[in-house]
Amino acid sequence: MHIEQASHEQLQSELAALEMRYAQLADQQLALDLTRGKPGSEQLDLSVQLDGILQGDYFDAHGTDVRNYGGIDGLPEARALFGSLLDCSPAETLVGGNSSLSLMHLVLEVAMRCGLRGPDSAWQRYEQNRFICPVPGYDRHFAVCEHLGIEMVPVPILATGPDMAAVESLVAADETIRGIWCVPRFSNPTGCVYNDDTVERLARLTERAAGDFLVMWDNAYAVHALSDSAPRLASISACARNVGTMDSVVQFGSTSKVTFAGAGVAFLATSEANLNVLRSQLSFQTIGPDKVNQLRHVRLLRDRATLAAHMGRHAALIKPRFDAVLNALEAELSGCGMGRWTTPEGGYFIAFDTLPGLATEVVRLAAAIGVKLTPAGATFPYGKDPQDSNIRLAPTYPTLADVQAAAEAFVVCVKLASIRQRLA
Ligand code: PLP
Repeated sequence: MHIEQASHEQLQSELAALEMRYAQLADQQLALDLTRGKPGSEQLDLSVQLDGILQGDYFDAHGTDVRNYGGIDGLPEARALFGSLLDCSPAETLVGGNSSLSLMHLVLEVAMRCGLRGPDSAWQRYEQNRFICPVPGYDRHFAVCEHLGIEMVPVPILATGPDMAAVESLVAADETIRGIWCVPRFSNPTGCVYNDDTVERLARLTERAAGDFLVMWDNAYAVHALSDSAPRLASISACARNVGTMDSVVQFGSTSKVTFAGAGVAFLATSEANLNVLRSQLSFQTIGPDKVNQLRHVRLLRDRATLAAHMGRHAALIKPRFDAVLNALEAELSGCGMGRWTTPEGGYFIAFDTLPGLATEVVRLAAAIGVKLTPAGATFPYGKDPQDSNIRLAPTYPTLADVQAAAEAFVVCVKLASIRQRLA
C-alpha cells in the first residue's frame, strides 16, 4: 500500500492494525538500543590476542624500548603501517593515542589559536570562521566546531559525496570558510563512498579558497567494508600531491573499530610542514604516546593483508546485523512512500529519512516501547534537522536477535507516525 494512493478507509484499517502491533510490542517491555556506533563484544573478541602479544619483548624494529618516554610521532613501524592506509609516507604520518577525535581537535585548535602557517594564519584573528559540514554527518565533528566557536554551514551529501557544486560556490563566494569535514569512505551516517571526481575536486578546493583552508579527511571507516566488492576510495594524497595542496589536507584514522574501541591507536597524515607545527604543539601536551599499545597493534595487524583478513572477520559478524535492518525495511516499507534509506557497503550506520516532520515523533514512539534511537537532529549541526526527517541507525552493537527485534519495532513506529500524519 502506497500512503499517497491509499483511501481514507484503507489508512484507517491499516492504522488500527498498527496500533495493535504497537501495543503488543509495548507489552514485551523491550530494552533495545540502536544509538551508538560501537563494536559488539564478539568484534572486540577478535583482538584479544593483543593481551600478551608482546611476550616481554618491548623493543621495536629500531631497538627502542617502547616502555620509556619519547617518540612523539609514534613508532616508525606504526607510522609505516597506518600511513600506508592513508597513502602517506611515515614522514607524513603521526601515530598518537587511542582517539582520532582528539587529533582532529588538536588540528583545529592549532589552526584556530596558533595558525598552521605561522601566527598570521591563525583563524582567531578573523571576526568570523565557518566550516562546511556535509549533512547528514557525524555529531562529534559538529561538537568540535561548536566548542571552538566555528560556525557551521550545512551542504547536502549525495550518493557521490558532498554536493561539490554547492561546496565550490560557497568556497569561492565566502572568504570566512576555513574548511570542510569529510568522512570519505562509508560516511557516517549515509554510508556513501566519495567518487573519484569528488575526491579530485576536494583536493583542488584550496585553489579557490583563502590560503589557510583545511580539508578534514576523517577516514574512520577506511578498511571497514562489508564485502570485497565494496567501492574503493580514490587517494586524496595522490590528487593533492599532483596539484600541490598537501598542506590543506589532513587525514585521520584509527583502529577504534578494528581492535578495541577504547584502547586502539589513532593516526593522522598531512604535509611534513603541517606535521612540524602539530608536533611542536603536541609536545606541550605529552612527552610521547602509548608506544606499548602501538607495538601491540603492529604485531597483531602486521601488514595490509593481515589487516584485511582481520576486517573480513568483522564483516562476517556485522553484515548479518545490517541485513537484518535492511530486510525489515525492505519487507515492510518498500514502495510505501513512508521513508527512504541507504544501503551501505561498509561502515557502521544506515541513514533513514522519514517523511518530513516525523523523525522526532518516530524516535519518541520507539523510545516509548523500549527501543532507543539516536535523537532526531543529531546528524545535523546544532542538532537541527530542518526537515526533521533523518534518523541514524547503528546495528553493530546489539545481538543479532536484538537488532531484528529493534528493526521490526522501528518499522512499526515509522508506519504509525506516517499514517497518523496522513490522516491528520
Ligand atoms: N570519526 C567518525 C566518522 C566516527 O564515526 C567515529 C566514531 O564513531 C570517530 C571518528 C571516532 O573515532 P576515534 O574513536 O578514533 O576517536
